[in-house]
Amino acid sequence: MSTNAPQPDRALTPTAIDALTMDTTPWLSCEDCFERMDIYVEALARDGSHDDAAMAAHLRGCPACAEEADSLVDLVTGSGT
Ligand SMILES: [Zn+2]
Repeated sequence: MSTNAPQPDRALTPTAIDALTMDTTPWLSCEDCFERMDIYVEALARDGSHDDAAMAAHLRGCPACAEEADSLVDLVTGSGT
């Protein structure tokens, strides 16, 4: 793909739609969230400014997964027991 020039006449490319819908709907399912959690938490532990919009959105809206992620972070960073 040649990516440098935006396409002025196409109002909504799939990429643009992705960007628009990403931080609102649909959030990841808990299943998707769990699948990505290891990677997300490890990246977070390595780099506190790591950001994954879809994961962050799910964790914000889902206390169960947020709790799971929390304890995983403790585990990975060794700051737990
Ligand atoms: Zn969840």
